Amino acid sequence: MFDQCVALLKQRGVEKTDIIDCVYYLQKRYIADLTLDRIEHYVDSVLNKREVQHAIITGIQIDILTEQGIFADERFNQLIMDDYSLYGVDEVLAYGICNLYGSIALTNFGYIDKVKPGIIGKLNEHTTQCNTFLDDIVGAIAASAASKLAHDREKKA
Ligand code: MG
Repeated sequence: MFDQCVALLKQRGVEKTDIIDCVYYLQKRYIADLTLDRIEHYVDSVLNKREVQHAIITGIQIDILTEQGIFADERFNQLIMDDYSLYGVDEVLAYGICNLYGSIALTNFGYIDKVKPGIIGKLNEHTTQCNTFLDDIVGAIAASAASKLAHDREKKA
């Protein structure tokens, strides 16, 4: 399922390197010798978790079905397509990922969601592709990898 998730993210315009860049953005000021290779190990670890994989697939499926206008309630469909700011279920699904990695993941997620670095900003440029769930999923994966990195660093110190 790891490969399936990486392929699904890629199909929706998100490369693993984009997520690695977001983690670097979050952690660079705390870890002086941080390398992208080291970050990749943490991103892979998050992507290997079954609950994370299910969240990725669920969120992306909702985005795709929304694009296709499949939901029976048209207003509901439009609400997701417009990424309506008070909808919030996209963030709640992302919290499901962050909750597996503790409070640092949640605060990192809030930060990345506000600042929207790199790919997160790109996903928020409104195009014909619905990224309502995808941007939060990507943010949550990056925030979770950053949290795991921070905890491991503390263990070694
Ligand atoms: Mg969203």
